[in-house]
This record gives sequence, structure tokens and C-alpha cells, in this order.
Amino acid sequence: VCEDSEQMAETRVKVALRIRPLLPREALREQQECVRVTPARPRQVIAGNERAFDFDFAFGPQALQEDVYRACVQPMLSSLMDGYNVTVFAYGQTGSGKTYTIGGGHIVSTPEGEGGIIPRAVRDIFLRVAQVADTAFSVRTSYIEVYNDQLRDLLEPETPSKFLHIREDERGNTVLIGARQQEVESGEELITLLEAGNAARRTGSNQLNERSSRSHALLTIAVAQSRPDAARSIASKFHLVDLAGSERMSRSASARHVQESVQINSGLLALGNVIRALADPRRRGQHVPYRDSKITRLLRDSLGGNSRTLLIACVSPAPACLQESLSSLLFASRAR
Ligand code: ADP
Ligand code: MG
Repeated sequence: VCEDSEQMAETRVKVALRIRPLLPREALREQQECVRVTPARPRQVIAGNERAFDFDFAFGPQALQEDVYRACVQPMLSSLMDGYNVTVFAYGQTGSGKTYTIGGGHIVSTPEGEGGIIPRAVRDIFLRVAQVADTAFSVRTSYIEVYNDQLRDLLEPETPSKFLHIREDERGNTVLIGARQQEVESGEELITLLEAGNAARRTGSNQLNERSSRSHALLTIAVAQSRPDAARSIASKFHLVDLAGSERMSRSASARHVQESVQINSGLLALGNVIRALADPRRRGQHVPYRDSKITRLLRDSLGGNSRTLLIACVSPAPACLQESLSSLLFASRAR
């Protein structure tokens, strides 16, 4: 009986909510934090006018990168090594802490201890690889940007997007034909590739932060392991996704921005629909709308089936952001 209920409790989609601290300039204006973790209920968050939302994990402004990583990401690495595909999403409006949390920014210049999920997970994956005897490992990485529902290979930025095709192989694995998948021998090598990809992401747009806030960035770490005694090798993928900003556009938006926002919103909507379909046990076996966006098509073999998903919704506690924070809280609480 105990085992049964434990299995039931292990849902495949978990949702974390992270409230960043007020930034120095926000604190200067003596703003009050208008989103906070309920003191007596560590997994509940209250926003604005006492609206409460429940999550699998909730982190307040004091939470350290290490706390977030240990509580909700590190346990999933065991699943990765056991052969499950694992995906971590950072969701939220621009400026809410997605890149800080995922840790895909300037890693080399980030102070020790302040690194996000990517450098920690990369370090742990290679630690595990070094610890397992009798197993041959291959670790490969790819880094893809989805901008305006078009794919771009950040490891090979000159590749025209029309040469990139999402396909399914005979075993049902999603593959991105035409994209570079680079074998890496160490965590340092992987981080160097990521940094080069980030540099490629910044060029080709005159407004630097603009483009990164309007595109999804998907880092994939594919792990293949083979043991001499095993008939078949185990292959699994770890995806780290820094999603485009979820904010609604302002009324003064230009035509290009309107077009981008339509793409972003439909991509995030499609993602929400897929995650909800997977999280709802009553909908098992029913149609899951993967085909509705590039990001859900890319992740098709890693959302649902034998996989683990974590959505980290990031919110700002500043009163000026309350509407967007509420909309992120709603999105995230519905994903469970
Ligand atoms: P996003 O990627 O969602 O646009 P960022 O990750 O760039 O947001 O965060 C916006 C700003 O807030 C950055 O200056 C970042 O360093 C800071 N920040 C975000 N989250 C935290 C946090 N938990 N602790 C301290 N600073 C944070
Ligand atoms: Mg960002």
C-alpha cells in the first residue's frame, strides 16, 4: 500500500515558484514586496490581495542558488542517469530571474556560489560519469534558439534555419537534423561551447537583451552509457530551457514586436497546454498537442512518457510587476 501511494505521489511534472529579491533600484524606491511565501506553509505563495497559490516547491528572495538546485534539480540527475529524459524550464516575465536561475548567462564571470542550475548540473553529471565503473559514457551537447518560431543552431550560427528539421527516429526519439551535436569530454568544455553560443546569440541583433528576452534558449546534454554486459546502451537527455519573456506587449509595440509577441504567446500557450495534459491523470492517453509549436515539437520525446519535467516560474516581488506576477502564478499553478 505504501509503495503504491508513493508512486502515485511521484507526478511527472513538478512546479517550483521562485520570488527574486527586490533589485537595489527597486528597493531604493521603498517598494514593498507584494509576492511572498506563506510563513506557515512553505509551499504556498501569496500575491497582492491575499491570493494564495500552491506549488511543489516555493522559494523566497532569500533562497540561494544552491537551495534551488539541491531541492528540485539534483534529484532529477539520478533519473537522467537511470535513462529518463529530464527537462527544466524557467518561465516568467523579462527581469524575473529566469536566466539567473537557469544559469545560462555569463558563467565564467559569475562569482563562485552564484552560478545557476546549468553549471551545477554540468559539474554533477561529469562527477557521476567519473564515478561509475565499467561503463563507457558519451556526453554530447547542442544549443538551440527558437526565435519567432524559427530554429537557430547557436553552436553553428551560420546554418540557415531552413536546414534544421525536427524528426522522429524509428525508436520515437526526437532528433533535430542539421544541428551540431558536439561530443564533450569535460564540464569546462561544455561551458565553453555554451558561452560561444551565447556570443552568437547576441550578435545578429542590434538590441542585445531584446532578442534574448524574446526567444527561447534550449541547451541539451545527451548522455549515452554502455556496459559490456548490457545488450543495449542507455540514452537519455537533459534539457535546460530559458523561455522567452511571458509578458504581454505594451500598446506602443511596433509591428515587429507584435509579430514576435504573437509567436511567443502561442509558443508558451502550447507549452502550457502540453504540460497540463501531462500533469492531469484524467487525461492520460488522450491527445497531447505537441505539434502546436516548435518548442513542444523539439521536446516531444522528453515531455510525457518516461520523462521528468520541472517548471520553475520566476516572479518579481515589485508592486509594479504585480499583474505579470499574478499571470505567472496562474500559469504555474495550473501546470500541476
Ligand atoms: P530574466 O532572465 O527573467 O529576464 P534575469 O535572470 O536577467 O531575468 O534577472 C534580472 C535581474 O535580477 C538580474 O540583474 C539578476 O542578476 C537579478 N536576479 C534575478 N534573480 C535573482 C536572485 N534570486 N537573487 C539575486 N539577484 C537576482
Ligand atoms: Mg533572461
